[in-house]
This record gives sequence, C-alpha cells and structure tokens, in this order.
Amino acid sequence: MSQSFELLKARVRRVVYLNQAAGLLGWDQQTYMPAGAAETRGEQIGTLSELAHELFTADETGQLLEAAERETEGMEADSDERRMLALLRRQYERATRLPASFVAELSRHQSHSFRVWVEARARNDFALFQPALEKMFDLVGQQAGYYGYRDHIYDALLDGYEQGATHASVAAMFAGIKPALVALTQAIVESRRDESGVSALQGFFPVEAQRQLTLHVLEAIGFDLRRGRQDEAAHPFCANFGRDDVRLTTRYDTAHLTQGLYSSLHEAGHGLYEQGSAPEYEGTVLAGGTSLGVHESQSRLWENLVGRGRPFVRYLLPVLQRFFPDALEGVDAEDLYRAVNRVEPSLIRVEADEVTYNLHVLLRFEIESDLLTGKMAVRELPEVWNARMREYLGVVPPDDASGCLQDVHWSEGLIGYFPTYSLGNLYSAQIWDALRAALPDLDAQIERGVFAPMLDWLQQHIYRYGSKYPPAELITRATGAPPSADHYAAYLQTKYRDLYRL
Ligand code: ZN
Repeated sequence: MSQSFELLKARVRRVVYLNQAAGLLGWDQQTYMPAGAAETRGEQIGTLSELAHELFTADETGQLLEAAERETEGMEADSDERRMLALLRRQYERATRLPASFVAELSRHQSHSFRVWVEARARNDFALFQPALEKMFDLVGQQAGYYGYRDHIYDALLDGYEQGATHASVAAMFAGIKPALVALTQAIVESRRDESGVSALQGFFPVEAQRQLTLHVLEAIGFDLRRGRQDEAAHPFCANFGRDDVRLTTRYDTAHLTQGLYSSLHEAGHGLYEQGSAPEYEGTVLAGGTSLGVHESQSRLWENLVGRGRPFVRYLLPVLQRFFPDALEGVDAEDLYRAVNRVEPSLIRVEADEVTYNLHVLLRFEIESDLLTGKMAVRELPEVWNARMREYLGVVPPDDASGCLQDVHWSEGLIGYFPTYSLGNLYSAQIWDALRAALPDLDAQIERGVFAPMLDWLQQHIYRYGSKYPPAELITRATGAPPSADHYAAYLQTKYRDLYRL
C-alpha cells in the first residue's frame, strides 16, 4: 500500500484513539464519577476532543488525504481503501468548513443552553429557556450555512447524522405513514376491548435479580460480555471504545420489570452492531455503525421486532418465572405479550409504544424545520407543540416540562437529529422482513432461545461492514431494495390489528 495512505491511516488512528479516550471519560461521567468531579471532567473531555479536532483538521491531514486519493485511483471503487478515503474526505470537508471561532462559540453556547434547559425543565419555565433556544437555532442555522446545502437548510444538518437523507425524503417518509399511524392509534384507543394482561408485569422486582436477568438475556442473544459490560445510568445508552470494549447501560425500576429488560435489549442492539464490526477496521473511520438511523434500526430490531414479538415472549416467560417465581405466577404467554405491547397515547416520547412513537418524532421534525426556516418563532413553540399533540395523539401536555421541554436534543444543538429515530424504525422492519425470508425457521428458533442464526445473518449483512457503506446503500445491499416505509407500516398494521382485534 502507498506511503501516504499508510501515513494518513496512522494519523487518523491517533484521532480515533483520542476520541475513544474522551468517550471513556464520558461513560465514566454518567456511571461512576463522583458528582463533584463534573467541572474538571468537562475540561478533561474538552481537552482531548480539541486535540483530536486539531489533529484531524490540520492542513497535513488534507495533504495526506489528497495524496492518498491520487495513489489509490487505480483501485476498485468498492475497495475498503477507496471507501475509507471517501468517508474521510466527507468528514474532513465538514470539519474544516466551520471556522474555529464559530466552533468555540457554538460549544460555549451548548454548555450554557444545556444548563438553562435543565433548570427550565425542573422549574417548568419555558420563558427561561426561550432566549437560549433562540440563540441555538440561530447558531445552528449559521452552521448549516457553513456546511452548505442545495434544496433545504435542514439537509445540511440531517446529512451529518444520516448521510444522504434530506428534508424531502423524510417528509415523504412521514407522508407515507402518518395517516395510517393516526388512524391506527385512534382505532386502538376507541377499541379498548381487551385490557387483560396489562397487570402481568406488575409486582416487586428487586434490582439484583433484574441485573442477573438482563445479563442472562444479553448472553442468550449473543452479546459478548468478554468484550463488553453492562452498568446502570440515569439515561440508558451504549458507548464503545473499539469493537472489543462495548458498554451498555440500563436503568431498573423495582415496580416495573419491562423498563430494565427492554432498555437492556435496546442498548444491546446498538452494542451487537459495534461488536460485529470487522476487526480489520479497528482504529479507522470504517469501524462501528454507519449512521444514527441504521444504529437505531439495530436497537429497535432487538427491542421490538424480536423482543416484543410472540416467539420471544414465549421464550422469555419461563426465564422470567425462574427469576421472579412469585410475581409471574399464573401469567401466560399471551398475557405477557399483551402487557409488553400495550398502546397508549402519552406525552413523553421515550416512553411511547411502537404505534405512537413516530408521531412524536414527526411533530419534532415539523417544528424544527419551521423554526429553522423562520416559518415559526421560538416563542410560539409551546402553543404549536400542544396543538399538534392534540391533533396527532389526542393528548395535551398539562405543562411544558412534559411538553416542549422534555427532550435534551435542541438544548445541545442537536437539530435535524430526531428523524433518525423514525428512519431506524423503518429500516428495522425492512431488515426484519429480509431476515425472515432468509431464515424460514426464525420464529421457532427464537421461541427455543436460539439466536445464533439470526445474529449470524445480521453479522454477515449489516454489522461487519461498519461504516463502509452509507445507510441507503447498506440497506439496499442487505435487503435487496432501497429504504421504504412500506415494511414498517405493514408490520404495525398486521401486529396491532391482531392484538386489538380491529
Ligand atoms: Zn437507541
């Protein structure tokens, strides 16, 4: 291999390692760090991130990149080398388009705005947050200008989270599922025919037993605990520092068994994806998941398509009964199936069920687009939020803390991020259909607690590619067709019309 290419790889490896070290400090911050260390920890993470950014955006990186591109011109367009350089080019262009002074201003405002949001949410005081949010939309609008866009300002931001996705493609996706989702939600609410089973998961579930249970299930589905671990955090997440150190977090509620279990399954889906990245990609930009949407497709696949399906519930019931014999006594699989699939329009996105979840995302997508283009002003946010909650979900937040102040994203400048949650749901159903076609025996395997064939298929078609292919290309290669909303819409209709006998 050419000299410049090798020099570039060595340089990028240092950037990757610096970012992984910063990530590990961040993981510690959310799990074990004493609260008093918060300020110093912020400085430590900031210092490492700054070093990584300086190294990556230096002129020398650009020169090496150019030389490496010339040296590899004769290679296959689909080779790992050419794909790696294409991804590096994209990341380098994005990183170097922002002036250093702007990066510093944005970063200062992010920490300010986050702190104000925490207080505003605690005090249920939108007016307190409004000026910080106005400035944030202003800054992020400038950021989009630096990145540049052709059709819609939103495209410049969304593309950073989901390469190739646009405002138009997301709007079309929502247009394809919104009427069906609203109608299905209403039909379920009106039916309320069968509430049996909803008490199947009530009781007292000691934390230690839940910890053992979730570890048991993680191992059963194939999460490698020699290359990963699970801890507790207030807001569950998955962090990784290479494919051999993947850390999941979960949160236990002694009154509700599903919270810890399903957040473990969700984060394990992210974790399996990271653990499955090809070993030869370690220390390069090809390591790890390709986009937020594809990442979310893997967490949703394990949490919902597998975890909330009948075969998995049949596998799960005797396991639960072993860990919690008293609470689960007399519960049958159908009760459990109903209990984990209850649909209830609610105020909080992260607690939403499969049917209503995407309506929460749609509302945020519409609002943030309108705020960016100036169609709407930040001060109108609470009013517009509540009106759309009523329209889409039939519920109205009693206060802004459980309304427009609930999510952390905007306070941190994560604008154009929300649609990746819905794209993840869509991809998950499309991948699920391909998986089922490839493994006709899948249901029976899952019911027996046999997950290896499924994991192997995901490994071969999704995980091992890391970030080699952009999302739409990866989905097309894995499923034989470009991303489409049809699979998800059909999945929801079939499952919930059966469940609620509509
Ligand atoms: Zn997730």
